[in-house]
Amino acid sequence: MKRAIVLSPVGSVLVGCFVFMTLAGNAAPQSKPAISKASFGTADGKQVEIYTLSNKNGMDARIMTYGGTVVSLRVPDKNGKLGDVVLGYDSLADYQRATFYFGALIGRYGNRIAKGKFSLDGKEYSLAINNGANHLHGGPKGFDKVVWTAKSSVQPDGPHLELTYLSRDGEEGYPGNLNVKVVYSLTENNELKIEYSATTDKPTVVNLTHHSYFNLSGAGNGEILAHELMINADRFTPTDSGSIPNGELQSVKGTPFDFTRPTAIGARIDQTDEQLKFGNGYDHNFVLNKKPGELSLAATVFESGTGRAMEVFTTEPGLQFYSGNFLDGSIKGKNRENYSKRSGFCLEAQHFPDSPNEPTFPTTILRPGQKYSQTTVYRFSAR
Ligand code: BGC
Repeated sequence: MKRAIVLSPVGSVLVGCFVFMTLAGNAAPQSKPAISKASFGTADGKQVEIYTLSNKNGMDARIMTYGGTVVSLRVPDKNGKLGDVVLGYDSLADYQRATFYFGALIGRYGNRIAKGKFSLDGKEYSLAINNGANHLHGGPKGFDKVVWTAKSSVQPDGPHLELTYLSRDGEEGYPGNLNVKVVYSLTENNELKIEYSATTDKPTVVNLTHHSYFNLSGAGNGEILAHELMINADRFTPTDSGSIPNGELQSVKGTPFDFTRPTAIGARIDQTDEQLKFGNGYDHNFVLNKKPGELSLAATVFESGTGRAMEVFTTEPGLQFYSGNFLDGSIKGKNRENYSKRSGFCLEAQHFPDSPNEPTFPTTILRPGQKYSQTTVYRFSAR
């Protein structure tokens, strides 16, 4: 008896489409949400693992336990073709050497604390200095340079990666044992969601954020100056020449910092402007229009070539917009691509820089018995 595998016409078309789309690197629709892990080397004598989170639309994120770093994020364009939209490296050794914070979790304090000094309850603290005279992103061995403990699961809304880290009393100069938990999830709505929480056993300061450099046309595909950016902020925090806020909340009206309507990042970046000079471009904290603590729209970005769009939602009061001014062509990133000046941008949801020294800024103090929490969502689509 002859046996034949008979595919109905609909079946053949479906199989054909699936093979074609997979070969073309396109999103494979209706795949199952999943999370898997692989080894990515060792750091500080500990195994470093890299997790791949994928959702049912075929989008995926690779996140490693060193620095809680998003190593790649593949997102469909307007034709369904997946592209990696974050800058990064191929090897763990490159991440260990680097000072750019590609894709990393930032803590204990995102952005700068002037001269690395602050006082709390009458006691002065001195932090590690790593940016001119100042303290930046938690110091030379901040949360981006430590190995986090991971737990993975697939939840109804998609794959989750829970990362925990105990930052010891005195680490980089900060008081208090800080227990930190960060949950990354990749939702069915093509969102990379980041939920942070922390508790302490002594009064301390906390300001956690995420430092992906995005390029919606694909990492390594040139400058981001044509990306259209909207920031939902009527004010920003101007700085001194060392990028320390001067304490004012300045209106963006009539300045190159007005992104209240979608505007190309490059449209005004080279204008003569003292603040742009201080930042070497955009490297400023925007004061988001919102009620304190609400999860609301902070920014939108659109890249017309690929049609990719990103929306940023956060519970935080501020958003640091950094236009990748310190990248230079000497950086060899993933696939040995060169990352030139302004070939990626960061939108870091956070409290304002140097808040421990600015009593009028929303407080970053965390006390025993309190819980720090923040949520930030990067949502992707294409049109
Ligand atoms: C800061 C920049 C800094 C960069 C480091 C940003 O968050 O605002 O001043 O150069 O991080 O990669």
